[in-house]
Amino acid sequence: MEKKPFATKDQLEAIAAQYPTPFHLYDEAGIRRNMEALRDAFSWNEGYKEYFAVKATPNPFLIKLLHEYGCGCDCSSYTELMLSDACGIRGHDIMFSSNETPAADYQLADELGAIINLDDITHIDFLEETIGHIPETISCRYNPGGLFEISNGIMDNPGDAKYGMTTEQLYEAFRTLKAKGAKEFGIHAFLCSNTVTNDYYPALAKVLFELAVDLQRETGAHIKFINLSGGIGIPYSPDQEPNDIRIIGEGVRKVYEEVLVPAGMGDIALFTELGRFMLGPYGCLVTRAIHEKHIHKEYIGVDACAVNLMRPAIYGAYHHITVAGKEDALCDHVYDVVGGLCENSDKFAIDRKLPQVEVGDLLVIHDTGAHGHSMGYNYNGKLRSAEILLREDGATQLIRRAETPADYFATLDCFDEFSGLSKRS
Ligand SMILES: *Cc1c(COP(=O)(O)O)cnc(C)c1O
Repeated sequence: MEKKPFATKDQLEAIAAQYPTPFHLYDEAGIRRNMEALRDAFSWNEGYKEYFAVKATPNPFLIKLLHEYGCGCDCSSYTELMLSDACGIRGHDIMFSSNETPAADYQLADELGAIINLDDITHIDFLEETIGHIPETISCRYNPGGLFEISNGIMDNPGDAKYGMTTEQLYEAFRTLKAKGAKEFGIHAFLCSNTVTNDYYPALAKVLFELAVDLQRETGAHIKFINLSGGIGIPYSPDQEPNDIRIIGEGVRKVYEEVLVPAGMGDIALFTELGRFMLGPYGCLVTRAIHEKHIHKEYIGVDACAVNLMRPAIYGAYHHITVAGKEDALCDHVYDVVGGLCENSDKFAIDRKLPQVEVGDLLVIHDTGAHGHSMGYNYNGKLRSAEILLREDGATQLIRRAETPADYFATLDCFDEFSGLSKRS
């Protein structure tokens, strides 16, 4: 599949004239189309709900856009809960899927009426001591251990993951929670990340549905929902075949009818906590080439760096790059596209074939709509960029301003001799 930016060079230059590069740009039309496809794919399940994984893109404008379609928030920290609350998303519209959870986080989750998803069996007592009771609705996170393999060889290693409870612990947790007054139960599992296959959710569903039938039979706990969590991936590379959410929804429906319906559990609601799939392809990082360098290799230096998009530096992740206005030009040059951190891992692309890049060109780094801006940091005193929403009508809306030096120094404002830094920009 060819990857085309969702904005033209002229559009990008017009935006750059108003908001200096670099910036993250989001595509409202793409987000809505994808959201509608997800909703339709699971419309067969009456209680279906997507809890958007806030950590992927914690921007209130985007969260509210998704909330128009009924999306809740999957939060895992105090500030993510605050953000959800500020968006007007509360109660069972929040799934609190945290781990190594501080007491204050459970307190706030409880105050907001969130569904709490326990990562560990020891959290039953910790939660009860913290909030003074066990909620009537409660969920537990499952980790079957071993390897999780899907038909086409994609696999991940739950046995090596810090999350969730073992099978034995899950049964014990359900019994304990029931004895302590819990009435409605959920099961959650996240076993593979960024799966680019239509088989992951159906395979996961089979494991969880069979488990649910046995758990309910053995413990008498009433299972109300099953949370397939995140993990549906996106094709970062142009040679990958994108997932088809309709096929995924159908695959899950088939397993639901094979396993849950015959067991008399055809009223179970399905939940998802997708992040990457919801926004990944509908955001890009727009950056300008500001230097070229010819030493042992050819380098293009851009005004963004790893603080704006960390995935290549920490995972060696591939992000496709288009030179705006040169979409159809021959890729007859080979470059490393690099940012300005004093870290040699600060490379958006290594040995990448591109058209000839000139200083001043705008580069579009694709698929940064999830786990992009949100993973930003301030190393080398670099500042995080603005986020801009490209509306369906072609207008732009600033949905987060760029950081200024004053933001960077804000945490020194408690010292008189440095407080001036947090006032200057
Ligand atoms: C990160 C995360 C998600 C979202 O994962 P994606 O890969 O963005 O789909 C969902 N749930 C939990 C608990 C997570 O930690």
